[in-house]
Amino acid sequence: MTIRLHDTRMGRKVAFEPLVDGNVTMYLCGPTVYNYAHIGNARPAVVFDLLARVLRRRYTLKFARNFTDVDDKINAASVESGKPIGEITEKFMRIYNEDMAALGVLPPDVEPRATEHIAEMIAMIEALIEKGFAYEADGHVLFDVAAYDNYGSLSKRSLREMIAGARVEVADYKRNSHDFVLWKPSTPELPGWESPWGRGRPGWHIECSAMAEKHLGTTIDIHAGGQDLIFPHHENELAQSCCAHDGQDFARYWVHNGFLSIDHEKMSKSLGNVLLVHNLIDSIPGEVIRLALLSAHYRQPLDWSDETVESARRMLDRLYGAVRGIEVPEASRAAAVPLQSVVDALEDDLNTPKAMAEFFGLARELNKATRPMERETLAATMYATGDLLGLLQGDPDEWFAGAADGELPAEAINEMIGKRNAARAAKDFAAADALRDKLAEAGIQIEDGPDGTTWRRA
Ligand code: AMP
Ligand code: ZN
Repeated sequence: MTIRLHDTRMGRKVAFEPLVDGNVTMYLCGPTVYNYAHIGNARPAVVFDLLARVLRRRYTLKFARNFTDVDDKINAASVESGKPIGEITEKFMRIYNEDMAALGVLPPDVEPRATEHIAEMIAMIEALIEKGFAYEADGHVLFDVAAYDNYGSLSKRSLREMIAGARVEVADYKRNSHDFVLWKPSTPELPGWESPWGRGRPGWHIECSAMAEKHLGTTIDIHAGGQDLIFPHHENELAQSCCAHDGQDFARYWVHNGFLSIDHEKMSKSLGNVLLVHNLIDSIPGEVIRLALLSAHYRQPLDWSDETVESARRMLDRLYGAVRGIEVPEASRAAAVPLQSVVDALEDDLNTPKAMAEFFGLARELNKATRPMERETLAATMYATGDLLGLLQGDPDEWFAGAADGELPAEAINEMIGKRNAARAAKDFAAADALRDKLAEAGIQIEDGPDGTTWRRA
């Protein structure tokens, strides 16, 4: 079986084949570093970390995730805080990597910074002007969308409709309302670099095109990011790179993650519901956050709520509960491979809900197994599968000890629920109710459903 991915440009799942046999290049648009990453920003980081892990099993992967460290939002943050720009970007790059590491995100192979690639951006802009795809106007350099026939092919928009629907105030130096900035002039107090068009700074889109070319070559295999980036960011990256490279394709597969909402509302500063990873990791284990982010299929919307977190916590309780108390010698652990049905699910467009269902199937098998050798082998497979998913990275005893002070550990809860259900089956309703009350006192709500009894911490 080959790996299958949903390609935004094709609008469907397709078989993945790298340009060069055995080697894969992947570029993920990274954060603009002027504040803390919120839980929505963590979704692409975690999802594409998992895709990178899946790809590395089969290919030599070069994975680049950039830092946008020159941007008007950073300039504004500097004015507001009175802190130098470099201090702000250094601080938030460091915190971003620490926060993502807490979610099990492995460092990408390269983390290019926009400010270290200005020469490459200038060279690409010069090539675009020379080839007739860009023009200089009023100290700016703009990409001429009308000169590129395929503009709109990624986001499935037609330029004619875009222009007809444009209500934006058009700067008079633009030939066309959709022409976008490649380079713009900087006033003395703003960051700027000398260029053939005077002292200025790059537009956002050209940053990614230049960094992708420098580190991954003219045609990359996979370009990834959140769905909001399809237009205009990725459409513009595609236009620039393709035109600068005489029509060579820029990215063979475009993969985009869906959006995360909070309690069914859009996350926004004005609603005051922005959850920062930096704060969440104080009270929620990183693996719980990671699993919650992977609980929905990456292309589907994901709603974040207390229930999302609790459900991920319970899933990890089940996984850690299965391997707890089983000694797996280093050699068996090293020799183990992830469960094939989990690999198959992940290789099918990163189907994480299916992968988790298969993983639980393995945990159930282990719970039922009685022979020590069989238990050891199954536990080793559990750990190898966890390594692929970035889960089960801790010690099971520590996991259960980690229940917050005074909280009942999951094992005790499951035991009490088991006793209650036995009492009910024996029609000893007084004993069953007493157990339910005891759980309620400990802050555990239970619910009986067709698939048995589930519980959550209130
Ligand atoms: P930004 O720093 O705003 O460019 O965002 C960094 C990454 O996070 C981009 O890939 C965005 O698409 C992604 N992103 C931002 N908000 C959300 C959200 N609510 N859900 C999922 N992804 C998001
Ligand atoms: Zn980008």
